[in-house]
Amino acid sequence: MNGVLFGPPGSGKGTQAGALCEHFAMTHVSTGDMLREAVRNGTELGKKAQSIMAEGKLVPDDLVGGVVREKILDLTARDRGILFDGYPRNLEQALFLDSCLEEAGTRIHVAAVLEIAEEELVKRICGRRLCTRSGCTGAYNVYFMAPKTEGKCDLCGSDLMQRKDDNEATLRERLEVYNGQTRPLLEYYEEKDLLIRVAANGSVSDIRQSLLAKIEEKQGGSR
Ligand SMILES: [Zn+2]
Repeated sequence: MNGVLFGPPGSGKGTQAGALCEHFAMTHVSTGDMLREAVRNGTELGKKAQSIMAEGKLVPDDLVGGVVREKILDLTARDRGILFDGYPRNLEQALFLDSCLEEAGTRIHVAAVLEIAEEELVKRICGRRLCTRSGCTGAYNVYFMAPKTEGKCDLCGSDLMQRKDDNEATLRERLEVYNGQTRPLLEYYEEKDLLIRVAANGSVSDIRQSLLAKIEEKQGGSR
């Protein structure tokens, strides 16, 4: 099975991607990982990407596409299902993805989106606090998992800090970008009757359960 997973920052997409890959024996494929791998392997495209990234520029769509195509042909030749994460980001990439999969004799079987209220994401991300002591793993959330003493780590008593990017303005900007990119893609997969929507406001295991159930239902229906 091949799938695409969408979800806003803070939705737990990475965790759920891992669970899906394990359950359905898929390989997790994200654009960043693919580019780094192509660079590491020193492929022709990898070398090009490396010199562009070294200049601090964004790797262009056609180069990313080339890397995606190589990866798809390699994995499908080895009979691996693929879970795409962070790709496609626009309709053009979605069409390209379909053409690569078709070339490999397969297709996308399901597109899943994790849905969660923005207010909940604000709490999840802006409520995060981390221990400032190096090596300490103390991590809290003032809304869901507050430390016993405000501003202090339960484990070591050191001060807690908030990461610079964990503020509401940055999050709202990221959500706007995510929504703008994702909306047309969701319509694209909805028209193909491949889209499932999963509420992502419960526990990690609840979300996983409902994701698996809906995917299995979708697969049953398409057979
Ligand atoms: Zn600590």
